[in-house]
Amino acid sequence: MRTTTVLRVLLSIQDLVVRNFQFEATGLLVDVAPGWQIARCGECGTRCRAVHDARERRWRHHDLAGMTLYLRYRIRRADCPSCKTVKTEKVPWAANGANFTYDFEERVAFLAQQSSKTAVATLQRTAWRTVGMIIRRVVARSLETGGDRLDDLRFIGVDELSYRRHHEYVTVIVDHERSRIVWASKGKSAATLKRFFDDLGPERCEKLEAVTLDLSAAYIKAVSEATPEAKLIFDRFHVQRLAQDALDDTRRDEVREAVTKDQKKALKSMRWKLQKSAWNLTDADIQDLEELERVNYPIFRAHMLKESLVSILDGRQINVARRRLKNWIADARSSSLVHFARVAATIEKHLDGVLEYVSSRLSNGRTEGLNGKIRTITRRSFGFHSASALIAMIFLCCGGVHVTPAHSAPSGFH
Ligand SMILES: [Zn+2]
Repeated sequence: MRTTTVLRVLLSIQDLVVRNFQFEATGLLVDVAPGWQIARCGECGTRCRAVHDARERRWRHHDLAGMTLYLRYRIRRADCPSCKTVKTEKVPWAANGANFTYDFEERVAFLAQQSSKTAVATLQRTAWRTVGMIIRRVVARSLETGGDRLDDLRFIGVDELSYRRHHEYVTVIVDHERSRIVWASKGKSAATLKRFFDDLGPERCEKLEAVTLDLSAAYIKAVSEATPEAKLIFDRFHVQRLAQDALDDTRRDEVREAVTKDQKKALKSMRWKLQKSAWNLTDADIQDLEELERVNYPIFRAHMLKESLVSILDGRQINVARRRLKNWIADARSSSLVHFARVAATIEKHLDGVLEYVSSRLSNGRTEGLNGKIRTITRRSFGFHSASALIAMIFLCCGGVHVTPAHSAPSGFH
């Protein structure tokens, strides 16, 4: 069998002809060409007979037996009768303008879904920056071909994600029914979210039945303006966090007020116990929390308020929950805990949206799950410096983007 035939089978790329090959200091160089004669426009695919010029280019493909492998081809530029301008021709092995084959890029994207950027870069022997660029291209290709993600949305969640040590934000929209991210953009203002509703358009906005969101005034404004018919459901975890933060603020006040060093130290050490969920407490924790009633009544009271709010939101009966939540607001107000009086005012203002969770059970829980996934991504040291890199990664890992890492079966000896 001829070596060029062996190489064609090994490369396993459709519509590719192997002309020649040579070994270089850097690895193996394979001269290839498209399986068609007449150049095709890289933009629109139209056949272009009027060739302008040709220039040698190389594309990185999967390593072969540990050797770096490049495809080499004199790529043509031709007058495209459809685009009415000079275009670089289409090649069957790589995207327009890419320096890597489709197979190489798909593998990088697959690895990036699974492991750290360092692992991807080392394994694929490529630069970090390159990994980011490839991810962006693979995601863009997938979003182009995957149909319009903004169609048929009924239940969505709005959430914000921080990056660059909480200095920058990205707003993401989740489709609750399909459990995937459908839209993301830099920023967390009303204007950011308005851009999403503009992309959605009035017809699709009308189909929205419910939107889960946090209690941010900017988001509330944008959602109410764009889709006044949809129900607002305030995310229970964000509501709980208000109480958790109020509890922590109360504890901090008490540390400041404490007289002796020992008292201060004891109250400081309570921080983590106060943050734990009830089911996560050890016997010793429970004992400490019970002691609080005697040791520091304000913190004890704050903790009870936080726990009772959680229990109200756990409830399933809307009428019961409404009555209990109103009592809770009255309790919080009369507790003389300033931080809880503030939370009570916020909850009262948004009472219906907070209770909507009890009847619908919809929350950003899924989004929060995705948030966890994104935090993992960030921890994997992808070190996002730009919103577009983070957004590409969000779509890659949480947008249901499908990548095929391996070769299909060898394309045979035809
Ligand atoms: Zn064209």
